Amino acid sequence: MNEKQKKTYLRKLMREKERIFQTLGLLEKAEKEVSGKEVGGVPTHIADLGTDVFEKALEMNLSDSERKILLEIDRAIEKINKGTYGVCEVCGKSIPRSRLEALPYARNCLACQVELEKKQSETY
Ligand SMILES: [Zn+2]
Repeated sequence: MNEKQKKTYLRKLMREKERIFQTLGLLEKAEKEVSGKEVGGVPTHIADLGTDVFEKALEMNLSDSERKILLEIDRAIEKINKGTYGVCEVCGKSIPRSRLEALPYARNCLACQVELEKKQSETY
């Protein structure tokens, strides 16, 4: 994955994060704390949101699914920074672009995800 692609996915992840914060009405608060600076053309204010804001979000009635997605997004952003983004955590193969387009914070390729979900449903 080249730098341009990484940036594209980073933007997607930020936008998704922003959407969740917006839904929660957290964005205004967050922007007051971090004054919307930009680095390298990528608006970083959302990425810069510290644990403070995140903890506030957790204190609020953040639903489990939203909390989970936020964690997944943070994880994906971290992986972009580390250069391990887009690689399946289970089998180590590249996650297809089409899957990342649909789910930019996907951790696994589709085949592994199906396996994981099968295992999860078996434990219930
Ligand atoms: Zn896989």
